[in-house]
Formats: sequence, structure tokens, C-alpha cells
Amino acid sequence: MSDERPADDPLVIRHLEFLGGMAVGANWRPEPRLPEVAFAGRSNVGKSSLLNAIVRRRAFARVSNTPGRTQEINFFEVNRAFVIVDLPGYGYARVAREKRRSWQGLIDEFLRSSPQLRGVVVLVDARRDPTPDDLEMLEHLADIGIPTLVAITKVDKLSSREREGRLSRICELAGLDPAQVVPCSAVTREGRDEIAAAVVALVEAPPWQGGPE
Ligand code: GDP
Repeated sequence: MSDERPADDPLVIRHLEFLGGMAVGANWRPEPRLPEVAFAGRSNVGKSSLLNAIVRRRAFARVSNTPGRTQEINFFEVNRAFVIVDLPGYGYARVAREKRRSWQGLIDEFLRSSPQLRGVVVLVDARRDPTPDDLEMLEHLADIGIPTLVAITKVDKLSSREREGRLSRICELAGLDPAQVVPCSAVTREGRDEIAAAVVALVEAPPWQGGPE
């Protein structure tokens, strides 16, 4: 992946800082001073790769994938203007029920403690039908009314013949409006600028739950 910046980049990264992680029951999160946009998805969906493509840093989100940090919510300040929130990957089949409840609880705790949250990007794998965890997450976000965008990851793995069919099936199964959906690939960088532009637009929008400015 190249770190070159095209002249029309909708999000030029000038400054990037890891603010820390929020763990279950630890009662800590960075002061919600700046607008926040969160990224959620099943483990292995390609979230770290997409975040790395967005900020044009190769190892940026690796911290979120190291053991011990995987159950934390990680906060990254961008350009001293907004915060990218990396939610824990969900839905590993082998994660015990007890653990599953802890990530759901943590995500809920985050949603409740985030008056500056502007939107959530949910990642779904292009090659698979949305999992029950994906559907639950999307339903939960729709219920609470937060602006939600869906990044369909790894589209480079689809042939051009498969592509339309897979994208419309995912929209149909998850009840998504095609306008909410962005096909992405960390390999070809398709979708990077569209997601980056959407993040910038969300950051400039008012808080979804009418929290303090
Ligand atoms: P995370 O667990 O959601 O953070 O997922 P990662 O970003 O670590 O990616 C999981 C695996 O999928 C890795 O082996 C990546 O190299 C691969 N991967 C991620 N994004 C893409 C993509 O867009 N295309 C392809 N072909 N592979 C990808």
C-alpha cells in the first residue's frame, strides 16, 4: 500500500495521536472534546486495514489488534479536529457467551458516554452474508437513530461478475439503502476517499443525540 497523497485527498492527515483505550468497567475514556466517528465490525473483517488506508499509515490500527487490546475501544485524534474510535471486533464464533456480552456492554457503554459521536461506520465482508452479529449491530444503531454508513470490505476478492449480486444481496439481507453502502478494498484502495469524505461530512454534522457542542 502506498502512502502517496493525491492532490484531491478529502482527508489529508497532518497529525495523528493515540489517545488511549477504554476497557470494560474501567470507567475511562478520553474527554469527549472533539467530534467522534466510530468504526465497528466483525473480527477479521478488515477494519485495521481500512483504518490504515484512511489515515495513510501502515501500522496505525495495529495497536487495536494486539492481544489484550482487542477488547478495548481505541481512540485516535486526527488533525486535532476529530477522533476516530476503533470499536472492538465482534462475533468470533469461539468467543464465549460471557465475553460476547462484555463487548456488547462495552459498545453500549461507549454509545451512552459519547455526546460528541457523529456517526458509525459498520464494516461487512463482501464475500459473506451479514452475520447475526452484523445484523444485531445495524439494528441497534438504527434503533437509537445514529447516522450509519456501511463499508463492504475486500471487494477485490469478488469477480466483476459476482460483484453486483453480492452487493445487492448484502443490502437486501441487512435492509440497507444502497446510498448507505460503500464498496471498499484495502488492496486496490477503492472506497478509501469515499469513506474519508463521509467521515469529514459526519464530523461537520451536528451531534446525533443533541449533546453539548
Ligand atoms: P480486522 O481484524 O477487522 O482489523 O482485520 P484486518 O485488517 O487485520 O484484516 C484481516 C485479514 O484480511 C488480513 O489478512 C488482511 O490482510 C485481509 N484484508 C483486509 N482488508 C482486505 C482487503 O480489502 N482485501 C483483501 N484481499 N484482503 C484484506
